[in-house]
Amino acid sequence: MVTTESATRPAVAHLLRTLPKVELHRHIEDAAGEHRNAPVTAADYHALGYQALRASAAAGVVHTEFFLSPRLHLRRGVRPAVLWDGLTGGLRDAEADTGARARIIVNVDRSAGSAAALDELEQIRDRSGLLVGVGGDGPAREIDVASLVPAFRRAAARGLRRTLHAGELDSRSVADAVRYLGCERIDHGSLVVDDTRLMRQAADMGIGFTACPTSSVAVSKVFGSVGGHTLRTMLRAGMRVTLGTDRPARLGVDLADEYGAVLAAGLADPAGLRTLAVNGVDACWLPDRERSALRRRVAEAWDAALPQLTPATPAPRRRRGPKARSRVLTARG
Ligand SMILES: [Zn+2]
Repeated sequence: MVTTESATRPAVAHLLRTLPKVELHRHIEDAAGEHRNAPVTAADYHALGYQALRASAAAGVVHTEFFLSPRLHLRRGVRPAVLWDGLTGGLRDAEADTGARARIIVNVDRSAGSAAALDELEQIRDRSGLLVGVGGDGPAREIDVASLVPAFRRAAARGLRRTLHAGELDSRSVADAVRYLGCERIDHGSLVVDDTRLMRQAADMGIGFTACPTSSVAVSKVFGSVGGHTLRTMLRAGMRVTLGTDRPARLGVDLADEYGAVLAAGLADPAGLRTLAVNGVDACWLPDRERSALRRRVAEAWDAALPQLTPATPAPRRRRGPKARSRVLTARG
């Protein structure tokens, strides 16, 4: 966080924190990362949900779609209802207290095989109305798109939307996720730029991409620095790309910091940040009417702030910022 503050003027950092944003790529388990004891009871899960959404709200995030990986909890003997009811109760209470909204995406293990993915999805019976989608992650080298087809079909039949962590090792996994799984969003997806035709198709189809530059440097190490991320190319191609933090507690970077890092690294100018924010709304899975209202709110706030954001990054700093930043994060991550 310190590196972002030093690379971005305080007034700009403050604005980036208060401007309304949407986050579509954040793993809720990350919020428990600071504690030694993994959640067990419904009260633990309530606290996890509550704290996660409060942290979002503190970064100016007005709508968050959290990933929940049921296997990480159920394999410790936690009952699905305890996990789900506790978590959704915490999110609802935080919604009431902060005004920020939350939804949940069940994130299955994309490498564990067909039966495991289906089982992970089927364990979750939603009574809260917060479950909106299915996703998948796990070891990046072991994406088995074909094995996910049954689970993703079942999810679609349940009215759930579809996304997948893909495109960190190659562009083909992005194409497969869209073609075979019917994904409307791709998490990360940064190497889609290797295939110009696919990039154009994804832009035409309005496929959402949730780029997490800091995570791609510090966790998956796809890029050596934030400035090396393909975000600029994706924006120029008119893709529906937005920003996420992936694992904010682990990385020490919330969504406001991530917007600051992208600006400081020269990946986007203030108008580009506005596009990232509005794209987040366009790619979110709220009902149409709520999404339209949120879009107006986000667009108007960013339009009003653009003049204050514009003189933010003196050109000479662009080269130094990302390198200094990535050294810090690589050491930490
Ligand atoms: Zn992720």
